[in-house]
Amino acid sequence: MGKLVVGATVVCTAAVVCGVAVLLMKRRMKNSGEWGKVEALLKDFEEKCATPVGKLKQVADAMTVEMQAGLASEGGSKLKMLISYVDNLPTGDEKGLFYALDLGGTNFRVMRVQLGGKEKRIVKHEVKEVSIPQNVMAGSSSEVLFDFIATALAEFVATEGDDFHLPPGRQRELGFTFSFPVKQLSIASGTLIKWTKGFSIEDVVGQDVVGELAKAMERAGLDVRVAALVNDTVGTLAGGRYNNPDVIAAVILGTGTNAAYVERAHAIPKWHGLLPKSGEMVINMEWGNFRSSHLPVTEYDQNLDIESLNPGEQIYEKIISGMYLGEILRRVLCRMAEEASLFGDYVPSKLKVPFVLRTPDMSAMHHDESADLKVVGNKLKDILEVPNSTLKMRKIVVELCDIITSRGARLSAAGIVGILKKLGRDTFKDGEKQRSVIAVDGALFEHYTKFRNCLKETMKELLGDAADSTIIELSNDGSGVGAALLAASHSQYTDLEES
Ligand code: ADP
Ligand code: MG
Repeated sequence: MGKLVVGATVVCTAAVVCGVAVLLMKRRMKNSGEWGKVEALLKDFEEKCATPVGKLKQVADAMTVEMQAGLASEGGSKLKMLISYVDNLPTGDEKGLFYALDLGGTNFRVMRVQLGGKEKRIVKHEVKEVSIPQNVMAGSSSEVLFDFIATALAEFVATEGDDFHLPPGRQRELGFTFSFPVKQLSIASGTLIKWTKGFSIEDVVGQDVVGELAKAMERAGLDVRVAALVNDTVGTLAGGRYNNPDVIAAVILGTGTNAAYVERAHAIPKWHGLLPKSGEMVINMEWGNFRSSHLPVTEYDQNLDIESLNPGEQIYEKIISGMYLGEILRRVLCRMAEEASLFGDYVPSKLKVPFVLRTPDMSAMHHDESADLKVVGNKLKDILEVPNSTLKMRKIVVELCDIITSRGARLSAAGIVGILKKLGRDTFKDGEKQRSVIAVDGALFEHYTKFRNCLKETMKELLGDAADSTIIELSNDGSGVGAALLAASHSQYTDLEES
């Protein structure tokens, strides 16, 4: 009896072992088949994202053409080419205490700066960062948003120390950086055309945002005059020019992307105002809305766009900027998991959550130098709840980061070359070396090293010799200081200072 049981157990165990072996073999076979599929999806994605120099030159040319069309007439292009009313960039002579507000993305900043003129420059500068609650960003009302801003500003003004000086009897003045497409009506007023970057508050569209802010400041009992309304690109350009007279354009690479540059006023056919004394006008391109048949757009991008808050819009931005790079990665990984068992037999449910993979996490994985890609493994575990990723899986993730980021960085470089072409600065003229400095701000450019390096390398590829006189310069938070500087040059007391 005992023997029989033992015998049966042995047979049973043998059968189980055999069964497990067959299963394992089957799975391995299946996996090898699936890996082929993963690799095919990877290759296909890589091909569709390709940005050879020829294609980038077409993108740069298309950018130049669209710039021209947008300057020629209202609505003439996807590029709005908005007139900023900034026709005098900072000179260094600006003096006094000025405030700035920066609203345009993940964080909202308030700042004050004491300007000391040519000699003393920026005497003191203080910044406070406030994160904007999701329920204020989308689905709230104009009153909720602007009360939130005015309250934060009032609290900040209340902490002004003795290092800041406002002459007696004067009103505090503010530069308002509002980084969404605005139809500017004057230097200190403008109506919101549309929201971007995840903001959506219906009753602000079409309103004068300075008027809305003024009302909220009144409700908060705060007496501050808005002297300048600018976009972050225009602010960055102003801040950049203050530090370096060769700055001719500014680019934002953060949550979203945009660019501004200094145009010759007579080259703006749709400008019906007086020709400014300087002969120049800063143009806010709103380049995030650029699109062209030359842009390498994949089905992942198309789906991201369809499911976004602003379908059909900001196509260039959706390929390039920090808000979207991690999301593109998530979409490709999700398909690889679903159709090619990238992570084994199950699809991590976290992978189906939109925007769960953020660009800073993607950057951390992309820069992982460890032999076993430990950082990638940890991120996969922590964010996507993939407990035991293999080295092979991790390598695929890194390759995808590289494809997505290179495409974004290279297309950004092509856009900058488009601006240089528009200004005739993309080639040497008779051997003369005209320096062109592009001030770049935004955490994507600042912190995503591989993105930044790739952008700079691509500039060299596209410009050849002329690359030596083109400088891409990080302008860290130039937009805040820039807005304060523009408030200074549009101060109600400027004439008093001069007389
Ligand atoms: P905004 O554009 O909102 O004014 P930032 O310039 O700070 O603000 O950009 C924030 C964006 O930059 C984030 O949405 C994120 O996508 C990206 N980002 C922030 N930190 C990093 C990082 N370490 N690596 C890559 N991207 C980053
Ligand atoms: Mg910003």
